[in-house]
Amino acid sequence: MAEMELEQEGEKKFIVQHDRPECIGCAACTAVAPEFWEMNDDEKSDIIGGKDKDDGWQELDIDDKDYTENFEAAESCPVNVIHIVNKKTGEKII
Ligand code: SF4
Repeated sequence: MAEMELEQEGEKKFIVQHDRPECIGCAACTAVAPEFWEMNDDEKSDIIGGKDKDDGWQELDIDDKDYTENFEAAESCPVNVIHIVNKKTGEKII
C-alpha cells in the first residue's frame, strides 16, 4: 500500500469482513491466503480466528503486514464477499 501512516503501536489498521451467507464455497480465498482463510465443513470459508457476527458475517482486525494477502484473497473472490475496511477512516477499500 502506498499510504503508510504511523499508527499507535499495537493498533490494527484494517478490518477484513466476510459476507459469509453469500459465500459460494469456491475455495479461492483459501488458496490465495491459506494463513487467513480455511474451508469449513459446511462448504463455506472462514476467516481463521475471525469473530462471528449475529448477521452471519465474520470480521478480523489486521495490520499492515497482513493487508496484501487478504487484499489478494478479496480480489480472488468471484462473488465479492470479502471486504477490507480502513478502521480509522471507515473507507471500504475493496
Ligand atoms: S473466494 Fe469468496 S466465494 Fe470463494 S470461498 Fe472464499 S469467500 Fe467464499
